[in-house]
Amino acid sequence: MAGIKQNIVYGPVLSRRLGISLGINLLPVSKKICTFDCLYCECGWTKVNINESIKNYDFPEFKDIKVALINALSNNYHSIEHITFAGNGEPTLHPDFSSIVDEVIMIRDKFLPETKIAILSNSTTLKNANILEALKKLDLRIMKLDAGNQETFKIYNRPVVEINISDIIEGLMNLKEIVIQSLFTKGKCGNYNNKNISDWINLLLKIKPKSVQIYSLDRSYPSDDILPLNKKELTEIQSELVKYNIKSEVF
Ligand code: SF4
Repeated sequence: MAGIKQNIVYGPVLSRRLGISLGINLLPVSKKICTFDCLYCECGWTKVNINESIKNYDFPEFKDIKVALINALSNNYHSIEHITFAGNGEPTLHPDFSSIVDEVIMIRDKFLPETKIAILSNSTTLKNANILEALKKLDLRIMKLDAGNQETFKIYNRPVVEINISDIIEGLMNLKEIVIQSLFTKGKCGNYNNKNISDWINLLLKIKPKSVQIYSLDRSYPSDDILPLNKKELTEIQSELVKYNIKSEVF
């Protein structure tokens, strides 16, 4: 799949949601590791069994991440708006995630102090206190919530570990100042239906994010059971959020 990253540091890329963003891939290069198997994942299906010891996988080493980032930042990338943890799966699964966050903050402060550090996370690891504390140190936490109920969660995000949507909500309520990212699709297994949207809004009212990013498919995806929404449909979702004073942006 086109979305699989072959390096630790990639870009900078022009991102719809982050502007000019330099990506950090904390997952093994050329392999996706995730707690979800979303129908729309640009990295393709999740093939790795993450219930086995996660340490068996070839995560990039701390020293290599540091070297790759320093090399990229010393290349005069003054226009970079965000350094973003993303890549081939869920970034917080790296066994040294919290130490890496501290190091990346130090490197950013030295080379590009104005640049924000962001993460795109699927919100499944928030029970881990070290990960939760590390996330709090970042400038921008963009946390996934596409489903409003357990049924859609199972069909759409397809967790590959024991986790329920209630665990996700509990974790998100422990994080302040977050941005929620929600990818909507229609089709047989899409999440664009009245019941899911109404349940999703109820969850947002509990989480109280500072804003919500609403978007649809823009890249390749593995499932035949979903289809992209058009701008009008995305804007209709936004109109529902306006009724509840929930801030959002459509991308
Ligand atoms: S959470 Fe992200 S990386 Fe994981 S399967 Fe879903 S889209 Fe892919």
